[in-house]
Amino acid sequence: MNDDQLLRYSRHILLDEIGDEGQERLLSSHALIVGAGGLGSPAALYLGSAGVGRITLADDDVVDVTNLQRQIAHDLAAVGRNKALSAADRVGSINPEVQLQALAQRLEGQALAEQVALADVVLDCTDNFATRQAINAACVRHRKPLVSGAAIRFDAQIGVYDLRDAQSPCYACLFPPSQVPEEVRCAVMGVFAPLVGIVGSMQAAEALKLLLGIGPTLAGRLQMLDARSMRWSELKVPRQPACPVCGGRH
Ligand SMILES: [Zn+2]
Repeated sequence: MNDDQLLRYSRHILLDEIGDEGQERLLSSHALIVGAGGLGSPAALYLGSAGVGRITLADDDVVDVTNLQRQIAHDLAAVGRNKALSAADRVGSINPEVQLQALAQRLEGQALAEQVALADVVLDCTDNFATRQAINAACVRHRKPLVSGAAIRFDAQIGVYDLRDAQSPCYACLFPPSQVPEEVRCAVMGVFAPLVGIVGSMQAAEALKLLLGIGPTLAGRLQMLDARSMRWSELKVPRQPACPVCGGRH
């Protein structure tokens, strides 16, 4: 690290759990964030400000004025712009050293597989079941740690699936692909603004811990928040040997 970096990251370097070595590790790490909306905004801002060296952001959506209530990476001037480009610009304005790649597309199929293969950690900040399943399947295949968040109304959840570990459950062990839920979307259901900030920030925290090897992480424990009462509950997530996505890899 040069003098500018030692200064910029000094409050991380002061932490025994991080130090010079950990910060160097972050600087040489690559995070993939799928979705640059309510969850992706704080996740990208924290990973960028914390010095994750490479961040790839993917989103095919454009910023709408109804997003500004909670999607804090975007501002009024970004309305009509692609969200991945808008969020990447914001991260770059905070930390110009981050190598940012903005993909103005819905990541799926081969493109998704390629991006997952290139990443050290994957953050699922999307809002639909099919995409979540596709991201999980790619993470299982490429053995990449996955940090998955969701928020609607006053309810949220966050889970970590550390697929570098063969004994880890995957997202589909908990949510089987065959049980397609009724899609509930912010557009019709509403979402409490800071809820996505809480969960997106936790996704950034767990992603940094996975990159740094600080533990235990949330792997194997789904955390659920009811923000009306601000109560968390936890669900143990066992690996399902018959899981159609990860069951065959052992
Ligand atoms: Zn599984």
